[in-house]
Amino acid sequence: MSKKGDGTLAWLRERNRQRVVGILRERGRLSQAEIARATGLSRTTVHSLIGELKGWSMVREVDATHPDSRGGRPAVQLVLRDSSQAVLGIDFGHSHVQVAIADLARNLRAERRTDLDVNHHAIEALDTSARLAFEALAESGFERGSLIAAGIGIPGPVDREHGTAGSATILPGWVGLRIASEMERRLGLPVEIENDANLGALAELTWGAGKDCSNFAYIKAATGIGAGLVVNGQLLRGASGTAGEIGHTTLDEAGALCYCGNRGCLETVASGPAILRLVANANDKPGGEPLTLAGVIELALEGEVRSRRAIHDAGREIGVAVAGLCNLINPERVIVGGLLSRAGEVLLQPLRESLRRHAVQAAAQKVEVVQAVFVERAELLGSLALALRGVRARQMVAQPI
Ligand SMILES: [Zn+2]
Repeated sequence: MSKKGDGTLAWLRERNRQRVVGILRERGRLSQAEIARATGLSRTTVHSLIGELKGWSMVREVDATHPDSRGGRPAVQLVLRDSSQAVLGIDFGHSHVQVAIADLARNLRAERRTDLDVNHHAIEALDTSARLAFEALAESGFERGSLIAAGIGIPGPVDREHGTAGSATILPGWVGLRIASEMERRLGLPVEIENDANLGALAELTWGAGKDCSNFAYIKAATGIGAGLVVNGQLLRGASGTAGEIGHTTLDEAGALCYCGNRGCLETVASGPAILRLVANANDKPGGEPLTLAGVIELALEGEVRSRRAIHDAGREIGVAVAGLCNLINPERVIVGGLLSRAGEVLLQPLRESLRRHAVQAAAQKVEVVQAVFVERAELLGSLALALRGVRARQMVAQPI
């Protein structure tokens, strides 16, 4: 590929070019400074590589007007031109299926959603998701052959090695089902599966509150409590994919029995159902609809004292577990997502205080605790991000030089 003697340099340059193309593919639109930060390359190197890619018509500049920009001259942003291919994201919730199609410049092109009892009707859910995917694909204007990868989210632990759901208690209808291969057969695509907290982390890393951050903990606080950990820009999955099960941190050995079989887990005191148990009776209207977590959050934001206190205490308990997490992985940021994060400072302020009180000073000092950007669509966007990262990883392996 090159003259004798400069082979190593040329290889390095090609490798760096692949990193720039890869990060643009994954994140969509970025300025040169953001590319430098995300790849770890120097600004001079990025500038020179971008010049080359522009010369080959592989990247173009886009209108840099951005809703976040606070005055000043916005940096010119760059996107890849290869938007002829697309990826698919599928999100299985406990009671819904949603799908989305995005091009490789990460523009969302079509979405579909339907309500379904996913927990108990696994095969029906898989069939429905494939049908919705092809409907969305038709709407997006892409040919079937343009679709190159799919990311799939399931609301529970994932056994990535076997492509199955890792817990019978959380997804009773999915036991033994090889989700990844079943979906590969239906879609004719390489498929990756991931749990909801990790997908939330990927969505925030790619588009949200973790965009400029390579070490953070994403906490999904909703019906369950889980964490997605990003270390050096990568998801930390652990030996069997259970890293981040923060909801089953023991806070009180003599506490209430948890569905996992232990006592006093964080979920027994701070999950959605635990909060509801605390406030439901007093706030249930006679003969009316039972109170929901969304209802409690709304009441808390309106200043209703019991709801506020219940969410405040949950924040404090979550902070204790997050403090332990900060001592171990020393994140720059803690991003709090899931439905409970809609309570904003009612949840975050006690969480922050408790984190400062319980973590070692060095870890607690710098960490910021912020609200996630995505709540309802976190898993859907995360499954698209998972597919985009898969495409990037395969290209890096297929084209090392
Ligand atoms: Zn537990």
